[in-house]
Amino acid sequence: MVDPERLASETLLRCGQPRLANGRAIDVERIARDFCKVEVMYISDLNPSGKSLLGLYAPMMNAIMVNCDNIQVRQRFTIAHEIGHVQLEHGPGNAQSMFELPDLETFECTEEDDGFSGTDDRFTGLRRRAEIRANQFAAHLLMPAGLVREVWRQENGTRNA
Ligand SMILES: [Zn+2]
Repeated sequence: MVDPERLASETLLRCGQPRLANGRAIDVERIARDFCKVEVMYISDLNPSGKSLLGLYAPMMNAIMVNCDNIQVRQRFTIAHEIGHVQLEHGPGNAQSMFELPDLETFECTEEDDGFSGTDDRFTGLRRRAEIRANQFAAHLLMPAGLVREVWRQENGTRNA
């Protein structure tokens, strides 16, 4: 089984770590669009099946949907989390090949999925494990060690210059 953290590092390496305009954060939307070839859609009041979702990955539509009612930092984590589903299920890079796979599962990701960690033993189903792995992937995609060090250096090295 692929290690989510390693997959996140590989993804960053392969896509060249695109940054937001401020240079201080990873541009996850660009990774989704340019690297995974998955569309990112911002949708208000996202609840396709009656429960409010943070985000959703729909392989059939080749799209990630993000609930845009949430704050931006939340939306960024959601996009990273959904990229995790894309890559953990279908491998890094172009997601087009997923159309050949049977059993295309839509991931509907809720607030409650978010709190799950590797140590939570209340849920052992495959689905829960997939959510945990997507969260691990997202955390590493958004905060690679190199970027954290670089921003810290900028903050502390140039502030008084
Ligand atoms: Zn999820």
